[in-house]
Amino acid sequence: MAKKLLLINPCSEDRLNAASVGIFFTFPPPGLAYLAALAPSDWDIRIVDDNIEPITFEDADLVGITAMTSNVTRAYEISERYRQKGIKTVMGGVHVSMLPNEAIQFTDSIVIGEAESVWQSLLHDFENNELKRFYRGERISLDNLVRPRNDLLSDRYRLKASVQTSRGCPMDCEFCAVTAFNGRTYRQRPVEEVLDELEALNCKEFFFLDDDILGHGKKAEQRAIQMLRGMKERGLNKRWISQLGIDFGNNPEVLNWAQKSGCMAVLIGFESINEESLRSMRKARNLNIGVRNYRAVIKRIHGYGIGVYGQFILGSDGERKDVFQRTIEFILDSKIDSASYTILTPLPGTRLYRRLEQEGRLLHTNYPEDWKLYDYAHTVFRPMHMTPDELEEGVYQVYKHTTSTVTSLRRAFNSFIRTRNLPVTAIAYSLNRGLGSFATSKYQCVKNQRACGDKDASLSHPATDGERCEAEIGSAH
Ligand code: SF4
Repeated sequence: MAKKLLLINPCSEDRLNAASVGIFFTFPPPGLAYLAALAPSDWDIRIVDDNIEPITFEDADLVGITAMTSNVTRAYEISERYRQKGIKTVMGGVHVSMLPNEAIQFTDSIVIGEAESVWQSLLHDFENNELKRFYRGERISLDNLVRPRNDLLSDRYRLKASVQTSRGCPMDCEFCAVTAFNGRTYRQRPVEEVLDELEALNCKEFFFLDDDILGHGKKAEQRAIQMLRGMKERGLNKRWISQLGIDFGNNPEVLNWAQKSGCMAVLIGFESINEESLRSMRKARNLNIGVRNYRAVIKRIHGYGIGVYGQFILGSDGERKDVFQRTIEFILDSKIDSASYTILTPLPGTRLYRRLEQEGRLLHTNYPEDWKLYDYAHTVFRPMHMTPDELEEGVYQVYKHTTSTVTSLRRAFNSFIRTRNLPVTAIAYSLNRGLGSFATSKYQCVKNQRACGDKDASLSHPATDGERCEAEIGSAH
């Protein structure tokens, strides 16, 4: 009989993200689809994403769980439930790779680093009852990468596939864990292999999972152009979204081919409208462009009919309390389609974490329990120029003033005038409303939690135990 492998992507602690922001910006877990593709054919495999469907704790022979810091406590809980049933579990992903000695207390086996190079030997060891506690994956060459098993992913995702064309980043921004996990070398897949994979996708819209498909340097840029041109020349006729560095908006040739190849929107890490903050983050690419040019970059991208979704981090050492009002003014004035705002969060393995630890500024270190507070909505360190409460309230106010119904309608109107693109306009409106509702629910819970001093007050799992934070229920209606 075929052995059953269950691969699980745990939800973040409150499951508010997918519920509020909507399924559009909930992406399929690609790492699990790659691991499914590498398993021998006599394994029966199922992929479950806890963000969009409740885990039923169905039986399996082996359970694989991926985890980031924001969902690792949920991952540990799932792993423990399976081990109580006598089912072995294996964990991988960024968080457990940074803290394998913590994670091994909750699982039978850990994969440190990229799992592809050790996955088949791990399954072989399991079948022979010789599962090791630790496996160390290498950073593999991206030539001849297997095709991910997208057929095993839920059909509830709006973007039904994620495609990865590169890994690694040479930039090493202080808050980012990409370089610690994927390395500082920008590894790229051969263009023809990417195009073949895209051609074989049986969906119209997909997400480029790369941290930046444009890459770093002239050679990488030429490769990106070749890939986008190839999409057009092969007549793929698909629409895509990707994360990209801010340099994207300064390169007319890339913009032109992005538009022709079906780019709907790009997610850009603007990070801050304060250059002192960018310096403290060591965000070199944004500093090279300069905050004064952010508006021009957004306008240029809009000129190609492409939407811009910004990502901003608040609470850096360079910021004072006026940063919230200035961010609101920038968001409304720049006509950026949508934006999310996160509180600076020191993730394990980053230079930011090490610095704040050395400076004695970490506020929540009762691990692993406190990892559930590292969700980008709680302040887990002592900010330089404001209190933790002021930072949380400030971020909430930015959401409130940029996502009300009237403001979202006005912003959607601006999106249409700029891009002349109805899908971009519709997505921007629904995303802004979703983010507004997310922020109201989330920050009300954070406030309640502070008021009652209970770290768990806002962190229940609605779909698994039926409990919800009262503020969350109130704001949902
Ligand atoms: S934030 Fe982006 S540019 Fe900076 S290190 Fe991470 S992936 Fe690279």
